[in-house]
Amino acid sequence: MIILIFFIAGLIVGSFINVVVYRLNLAESMFVGRSMCPHCRAKIRWYDNIPLLSFVLLRAECRDCKGKISWEYPMVEFLTGVAFAGIGVWFFSLANYQTWIESGFLLVLFFLLLVIFAYDLKFMEIPMIFLWAGVGAAVLWLIFSDISNFSASNSIFSLRIVSGAIGAFVAWAFFFSMAFFSKEKWMGMGDAYLAILVGLTAGWPKIFFAFVLSFSLGAIFSIFLVIFKKKSMKSQVPFAPFLVAGTIATLFLYQAFPEYLGYLFYF
Ligand SMILES: [Zn+2]
Repeated sequence: MIILIFFIAGLIVGSFINVVVYRLNLAESMFVGRSMCPHCRAKIRWYDNIPLLSFVLLRAECRDCKGKISWEYPMVEFLTGVAFAGIGVWFFSLANYQTWIESGFLLVLFFLLLVIFAYDLKFMEIPMIFLWAGVGAAVLWLIFSDISNFSASNSIFSLRIVSGAIGAFVAWAFFFSMAFFSKEKWMGMGDAYLAILVGLTAGWPKIFFAFVLSFSLGAIFSIFLVIFKKKSMKSQVPFAPFLVAGTIATLFLYQAFPEYLGYLFYF
């Protein structure tokens, strides 16, 4: 039941993320005015604005002009639903108020990460306001978690804010070098900024696992694109979506299977 509530909340937030991304690009207000069709500018009726469902019922077409609705919209809604449901499954517990606060931080952090996901997917650019807001949210989350788990016997390296800072530095150094030495052919400088945020979020040494996942996802996806001739080998694929997806998946996998991944990646 709780999972369903988190999933539906995620669908609604995902739908809002689509609006944020679209209007951020046009520098329009995010809260004023109803959504419009990007082709014919007709106002979207409330019953055509239901996450996932409307896309299927309308068969990916605008009701007014039959213009195509991008598959990116329902995908962002669905992934946000899954990400929020994951928080409900692996982090939230009704009986423990501390998990309420931690889940709150994660909901905000995942929202910001998914705005970056959707924006980079559409415009191949990292929206910096959301990136720095994410860094702020991640730092507050790690400090909160350190304070609530504090015991005097802990070493400084068991603090999550320290593991986050190391993760952020390692991740940034890795992506910055790739962007620098390839003259931004392999990776953009924007990805190096995003690396700070995902490094902070995953922490050291989980960031390794997040990288393995992100690059695997990216490779599989690129192979599909080439096979289905959507892109040639040379064309650029935005990397931020894979980095965000890999990082969120890493948090869930570590939370779900601490014993297995703990042995693999804690040294
Ligand atoms: Zn239209």
